[in-house]
Parts: sequence; structure tokens; C-alpha cells
Amino acid sequence: MEKRKSAPPADLIWAYYLAAGALTVAAYYTAVLTGGPPVLRVTLYCLVSASAAAAVLLGCVRNRPRSWLPWVLLGLSQVVYAAADANFYVTHFILGKTSFPAPADVLYLSHYPLVVAGLVLLIRRRTTGRDVPSLLDAALLAVVAGMLSWLYLIGPQTEADSPLLVKVASMAYPMMDLAMFAVAVRLILGRGRRNTAFVLLSTNLLAFFAADSTYVFQQLNQTYAAGNFLDAFWLSGNLALGAAALHPSMAHLADPGGTPDRGPGPLRITALCAAALIAPATLLVQYANGAYSSIPIVGCACAVLFVLTIARLAGLVSEQRRLAITDGLTGLRTRRYFEAELPAEIARARRAGSPLAVLIADVDHFKSINDRYGHPCGDRVLVEISRRLRRATRDTDILARYGGEEFALLIRGSGGEEPAVIGERIRRAVADSPVAIDGGHPPIEVTISVGTASFPLHGKTPADLVGAADRALYAAKNRGRDRVVDWPAEPEPDEDAGITYLQRIADEVDSWLSTHEHGRAVGRWAALVAGELGRSPASVRLAELGGRLHDVGKILIPKEIWEKREPLTEDEWKQIRQHPVYGYRLALAVPGLGGVADVIRQHHERFDGQGYPDRLAGTAIRFEARILAVCDTWAAILADRPYRPARTEPEAVRELLDARGTQLDPQVVTAFLDLHARGELGSLPRAGVTQAG
Ligand code: GH3
Ligand code: MG
Ligand code: MG
Repeated sequence: MEKRKSAPPADLIWAYYLAAGALTVAAYYTAVLTGGPPVLRVTLYCLVSASAAAAVLLGCVRNRPRSWLPWVLLGLSQVVYAAADANFYVTHFILGKTSFPAPADVLYLSHYPLVVAGLVLLIRRRTTGRDVPSLLDAALLAVVAGMLSWLYLIGPQTEADSPLLVKVASMAYPMMDLAMFAVAVRLILGRGRRNTAFVLLSTNLLAFFAADSTYVFQQLNQTYAAGNFLDAFWLSGNLALGAAALHPSMAHLADPGGTPDRGPGPLRITALCAAALIAPATLLVQYANGAYSSIPIVGCACAVLFVLTIARLAGLVSEQRRLAITDGLTGLRTRRYFEAELPAEIARARRAGSPLAVLIADVDHFKSINDRYGHPCGDRVLVEISRRLRRATRDTDILARYGGEEFALLIRGSGGEEPAVIGERIRRAVADSPVAIDGGHPPIEVTISVGTASFPLHGKTPADLVGAADRALYAAKNRGRDRVVDWPAEPEPDEDAGITYLQRIADEVDSWLSTHEHGRAVGRWAALVAGELGRSPASVRLAELGGRLHDVGKILIPKEIWEKREPLTEDEWKQIRQHPVYGYRLALAVPGLGGVADVIRQHHERFDGQGYPDRLAGTAIRFEARILAVCDTWAAILADRPYRPARTEPEAVRELLDARGTQLDPQVVTAFLDLHARGELGSLPRAGVTQAG
């Protein structure tokens, strides 16, 4: 019947197939009603079931589903089914043999395992996660169907006065149908795509189940007559399967995803409720009829249904709770959860005498990220920041999204760490590398400011504690952002005193190494380059301070090494390579200099990842550190070394160009050389001869 003269449009072949099938079914019933020759009826009937087998296999070839195995199994099941039909109708109508069970029954029964296997595979590939709710719903329906099947189809067969083989075959049908039904409802109720192929396949399964069950029921009551209305169910079930496989959407039926779980809708709840009520209703009917034979069966079914319903309810409650305490965008805890936990945690800390700290972090200049890249990119940045915060904190800490771009962290029992240290760790976790977001945007540099407060030192109530952390955060913002401030925020001059102190050490290093003014010059150039590259005022200041202080760590390396005239040993080089880490530690000791400390640590990293101490590469190195690398290299080329004299500026320009993209960030080199060409850098004071570093 699927032979047509001109090829139909590829994506409509399923509709043509259905139309041709409907005409064939109409012809079949015309033949039945007009008493047409059995050969014609058998031919028309078998044509439909055979066409479905051919359609499934053809659909596999045409639509090339990535998961082909489930469809091949369904196709094979239909081949077996069509063979059973041919066998049954020929022996029944043409040869007039009506024995039961017959070879056709073996074929019919063996098509079920293939269907079930195909469906199970399909379900497994479609399902992401465990999808327990659908499993419970399907189990509930299967229990009701199983109970009814036992009461009205299987049970009566056990009592029937028939030969064993007949009994076994008669019971096998409803049992197989039940297995198919259970898997089918799991497929239908489960998550996943609900495209046209899905609807057609579901129609096939439900039509078969309805026809098969009615058939067994009619057999029991001896009301079945071949050619009655049941054939319409079987025939349309066949056609639905063939059309499902021919529909282009079948290729994606096994793909995971599709509709997210939104909880059961009113329709599903009503259907499940009605189905579950069938069990007690059956008991009432039996009570009214005075027939109590199936009370154990129905009672067990009621108990199982009850357990399934409670399990489903428990799942819903815990899911609702999870949703209520989980922030939808970032997956962190909600502010509501944080505020509910804080009083209990304070009470616990008071009883146990253990420390407790509250940290509040706010993303710096987040509005400008939204303005430049758009709100969706802003959202992705928030998600990435949350991921970094989660990685930098312990599972026992409570990390919540406190507001739009504000986060709150509750630390129970400090684990020996000061809140400031934890604050610094989360600040670094965010600032360490720019956030890569796809969509053709360059990675986005993002920093946070953090305020901390401790119980009971800075507050004994939740409001006091959060208020103190909030005021500390405010101070961190005021002092230039990208920093951690503990409450009570130390007065600002202290920070300046720290910087002045480090600057004196840096000058001391320069005078030791006879590289007078080196730090000052590098700081000045770095600020110029940062400005040239259009960096924010905070970044320009960071570059300047980083440049000014980048060599402070050298103070911790023995002076003799620097003054040595002979080539250095490997061990001495190793010590020299420690100076970025030493400098980092010195800067970290000054409140608010976390960002500067990072830049100092990274100023010997190379753009190609071959630098030290952390072998960072490309944009994983802070922008300001990449600027310092260029300025520092320039100064080094122009300085005398024991093993080679200073080079001229034209030679230095050539060396910088050679190092573009390998040692140095090309963009920074270009900006630096532009400034140099315009004569805006000024010259470096003449340096003495010492070792490099
Ligand atoms: P600073 O904190 O450094 O003072 O500057 P800011 O620009 O971050 O300050 P402000 O608090 O004024 O701006 C916060 C912005 O965060 C405003 C709002 O549009 C944005 N925002 C809040 N929630 C979300 C969100 O869920 N997604 C996105 N994309 N933006 C958000
Ligand atoms: Mg804010
Ligand atoms: Mg902000």
C-alpha cells in the first residue's frame, strides 16, 4: 500500500502512509461487512501489519536516528507480529483451523519481549538523572492495571477448567501485556521530548494494550468474534507505529532533554488519584455483591498504592524544600535560608563556645558588566562567580546569594583560619582569572569586595553581625574595591602606612642592587601603559603599585647572591626565582593589598606559560602583571649585567618585538612601544651592575 507513483515530499511520507493505511482499513471493514472473500480480508489485514514492519525499518534508514537500537528492536517486534498475523489469519480463515494455542501464539507472545526491550532502551536514553517521580507514577498505574488484570483476566484463567497448555497461553497474554503497559506508561509519563513520533508511538502502545486486554476479556466471556471492532484498534496501532518511525522527529526521540520537570499537573494528579481509587472502589463493589474472594489481592494492591503515594508525596515535599532554599540562577542557598540558619548557628556557637564568622561579598562594578555585555552575560558571570566561591569554601559553610550580585558566607568553626584569610581566599578565587563567557565576547575581568565580621566579637545577634560585615564591605568599596576588610575596619591611614613601609623596602632593594629608581620607573610606566590601554582607574593604580613594589621580595634573598660576580649556581637561581612569592607574602600582610600581592606574584609569568612561579599563561595572568612583565623586561634589557653590558633602546625595541606573543602579551607590547615612540616613557636612571631577577 505504500507504493506510489511519484515520490512524496520527504517529511510528509508518514502522513501519506497513514492516509493509505486508513483507506486499507476502510476497505478491510467493507469486505468484512459485505461478506467479501476471506482471502481478500486476510490479505488486507496482513498488508497493514506487514507494512508497519516495513515502515519501521524504512524509517530507520531514512531518518538515521543516532540511537538506532531501540527502533531496530521495535521494527523486529513488528516483523514477528506481522508473521504472527499472517500465520493466524491464514490458518483461521483460509485453512479453517481454530486450535489454541497455535504456532501463531508463539509468534505473538515472542513479539512482546522485543517491544519491552526496545522501550526500556528508549527510556534509558531519553532520561537524564533518575526521574524517580515518573517511575513512581508509572508504578502506581501498573499496580492498578496489574490488580484489574489479575481480577478479571489472569485470575479467571487459573480457575478455568481447561488443559494446562491453554491455561498457560491464556495467562501469558495478559502478563505480557502488563509488562508492556508498565514500560509504556513509564515512557509516556517520563521526562523527555514529546514530539510527533512520541505521540504516534504512545498511540501504538495504548491501542495494542486496550485491544489485547479486551480480546482476552472477550475470549473469557466467549464473545470474541474475529473481525469485530477490536481489529480497528490493532490495525490503527500498527499504522501509528509505522508512521512514528517514518516521521522525521523519530531521529530525536531517544535524545535526552526536552521538557524540564515542573511537577505533576492537575490532569496527571486527577488521573493518578482516579486510578488509585479503583482499588478501594473494587472492594466496595465486592462488598455490595457479597463476593469477598479477592480481598487479599485488592488489600495488597491498596497497601502498595498507599506506599507509592506517600513516597511520591515525600519526593514532592523534599523537591519543594530544595527549590525554596536554592537560588534558581546560581544554585547557591537563598537569602531566606541564610537568614533562617544564622540565629540557630549563633545559638550553637554560643553554647559550644566556637567561632562563627559572616562574610558579605559584592561584585565590583557589576552594573558596567551588564551595561557592556548585556544582562544574560551578566547572569553567566554570576554563575561562574558562584562556582568559584563554592570551590573556595568548605561544604560545611553556608554560601548564599544574598542579593542580585551580593553573596553571604557563614563560616562555622573557623577551622583555624581567620575570617580575613578566608575572605582573601574567596577574593582571589574570583579575581584570579577573567571569566570566559561564550558568544564571541572576550573574557571578562571581575573582582569582588568582601566585608567580614566575627561572633561574638563584632555582634551577638544576627542583625548586628550582618550589619558589621556590611559596614566592612562598605569600607572595602570605599578603599578602592577588590579587597577584604574586617570589621571594625581599620582606619585608612594604616593601609597607607603599610604601603609606605613596603615602598621603603622596595627602595632598599633598589639601592642594594644599585638599580636606583627601578621600582619607581616600572610603576610609572605600568600606570602609563594601563592608561594607554583604557584600563579603569582601579586597574591603573594596581599596575602602578604593583610596579612600584614588584621586587620587594628580593629583600629576603641573601645580599651576597645579588653581588656575586661569577655565574650563579642552579641553587642560587632557584632562590632568586622565589622573589615573586616572597613579595606576594609581604604584600599580603598589608590589609587591602591582596590584588597588589597577586600582581607581584605573577610578574615573572610568561604569556606562553613558561614563566614562574605558577606557570600561568595568557589571560590567566592578571592584566596588570602582564603590563609589569613588559615594563620590567624593558628595564632589564637597558641595565648592565655581569654577563653582558646594557643594550641600546633600538636593540631593546627589537627584543620586545621578538618576545611579543611568547614571553610577553602582544597587546601590551604594542601599547608600550607606542608610548615609547611618542617619547612619553622618559628614560631609566643609569643602573649599576648586579644579577638579574
Ligand atoms: P559596586 O558594587 O562596585 O559599587 O558597583 P555595582 O555596579 O556592582 O553596584 P550596584 O549595586 O549599583 O549594581 C548592581 C547591579 O547588579 C545592578 C543590577 O542591574 C545588577 N544585577 C542585580 N541582580 C542581577 C542579576 O541577577 N543578573 C544580572 N545580570 N544583573 C544583576
Ligand atoms: Mg550590590
Ligand atoms: Mg556591586
